Amino acid sequence: MQMAKVACFSGFWADILRHEMKKVFLETWGCQMNVSDSERVTGTLARDGYQVTTDENSADIIILNTCSVREKAEHKLYSRVGRIRHKNEIKPVIGVMGCVAQLEGETLFDKIEGVDFVLGTRAVGRVSTAIDEAIKNGRYFDVGEREDEYDWTVADTHRHSPYVAFLPIIEGCNKFCTYCIVPFSRGRERSLEASEIIRQVLELRRNGVKEVHLIGQNVNSYRPETESGLEGFAGKSAFSRLLRAVAATGINRIKFNTSFPRDFNDDMVDAIDEHENLCNWVHLPVQSGSSRVLKLMKRGHTIEKYLAKIDRIKASSRDIALTTDIIVGFPGETEKDFQDTVSMVKYCGFDMAYMFKYSPRPGTPAFEMVDDVSEAEKHYVF
Ligand code: SF4
Repeated sequence: MQMAKVACFSGFWADILRHEMKKVFLETWGCQMNVSDSERVTGTLARDGYQVTTDENSADIIILNTCSVREKAEHKLYSRVGRIRHKNEIKPVIGVMGCVAQLEGETLFDKIEGVDFVLGTRAVGRVSTAIDEAIKNGRYFDVGEREDEYDWTVADTHRHSPYVAFLPIIEGCNKFCTYCIVPFSRGRERSLEASEIIRQVLELRRNGVKEVHLIGQNVNSYRPETESGLEGFAGKSAFSRLLRAVAATGINRIKFNTSFPRDFNDDMVDAIDEHENLCNWVHLPVQSGSSRVLKLMKRGHTIEKYLAKIDRIKASSRDIALTTDIIVGFPGETEKDFQDTVSMVKYCGFDMAYMFKYSPRPGTPAFEMVDDVSEAEKHYVF
């Protein structure tokens, strides 16, 4: 018995010593889900004896947590790896995480010279193994299995702020908008049980966190497998019931992002009206002001239905801030479609909008469409 204890103890210290002096620099691109994954990876690395550094030049290991939503982000990865290889004095181990890693897998080794390991979104919990294996064997890749559960574990999360916490409640997407690569990189929707979300929010509150962000590709498509945690909370959808349940924890501020227009209902605005701690902000990506383009994008709603939801948000007693995403220059978009978007923007009076020119992503249905809008037109500023 005593010997077993000694063996275990020395194994622990052997791990610590193995990682001693190993510094990791982690760079994150893209959405809040990537930020949340990076927070968990940072916590895992610290637990396993690595030193997470903000000084890239002294790092032994550099991990790039990537985004694949736009073509530019992928090109950025290629040039970023090249710059690390040529600039840094210490030749670090280079790892690629995130959506590009999940999509490309092992092929990244051929596409980008200098990548030592590839770790997909389904495998973030195994970051220390990836580093160990890459150091020992040269190359390592792990993108998990297609049916792998998303790793909701937050125990070792290292948060970017002691007061603000990102809490993934749904992962993946079932919508398959024709321009978007996310359903392929993040997989199908999976929701965390409400009872576990409530438990985590209460724990965060006890630990001094003031603001939680309920995050996911489409938070309002939230569909847990059981009613656990939602009992006793009224609402027209599981998400509006969840909002009321999280509000009842008494945490100071709650935000949620991103909402999908088709799944957004009046009851979510009612919940904001009822609870002061639900922040008065809704991010509702519209993408286009033309129902014809929305159909080409396979968004599943018309602009009239979107505007009806905006009208309800504007009728709130809380003066809700409204933000959106817009794509300009989708294949087939005409001047008339674009002017419909301009009119829609004026009507909605968004507080802020993320505007992108259409970026073709291989593997999506829109990639096969004729991209007939010139670069000059896509750059038009209104
Ligand atoms: S809803 Fe559409 S745009 Fe949003 S992640 Fe899913 S497929 Fe992409």
